[in-house]
Amino acid sequence: MELKGMTLVAATGNPHKLREIRQITELFGIRIISKEEAGAGDLDVEETGTTFEENSRIKAESIMKATGFSAIADDSGLEVRALDGAPGVWSARFSGEGATDESNNRKLLRLMEEVPDDQRQARFVSVITLCFHNGDVLTARGECPGRVLREPAGNGGFGYDPLFLPDGYDETFAQLSEEQKNTMSHRARALAVLGKQLSAYGNE
Ligand code: IMP
Repeated sequence: MELKGMTLVAATGNPHKLREIRQITELFGIRIISKEEAGAGDLDVEETGTTFEENSRIKAESIMKATGFSAIADDSGLEVRALDGAPGVWSARFSGEGATDESNNRKLLRLMEEVPDDQRQARFVSVITLCFHNGDVLTARGECPGRVLREPAGNGGFGYDPLFLPDGYDETFAQLSEEQKNTMSHRARALAVLGKQLSAYGNE
């Protein structure tokens, strides 16, 4: 399929995520537009899946159906080993109705109070799904391993960034620069996988 000149609608309104997605897709001559630009600004998709794969596909498919354009969606979250993978797909709404980054981080620290230092392993996961309007689907997963600290450090980033120390670094996601995070984050890794898939797909 010819990718050059294709328009893709992105499910996310998050400018950081959009920038990262564009960096990959522009290599293939693909144009990314927002839900608003595609006329689906008020489409609110319920994330009813229990895996990142399900939720990112639900988002991409709903937007494709609503707009008629091919669509790209990402679903991501933090999986903590000592909590059997929680908060996982519930990362954004971990502390319930009206959850904020602060209330989610507070809940995570509270649940992990008794977890010893050598058992605080966690990983960020990102799954990106691209639904083409011809029915083809590409799915790419990226993971970033690390551990959960006992108190927040750093002011950058968002979500659980201040509590997450990626393996091989001595600064949290919130202390690293956006450029550094973008070289090894779960989303950057999923996008690299997607880039490889797009190369193969474009040559079919
Ligand atoms: P969603 O993928 O937009 O549904 O967001 C999932 C949630 O996972 C976010 O609200 C954050 O709490 C968390 N999350 C996903 N990626 C990151 C990240 O890079 N840093 C910190 N938190 C993240």
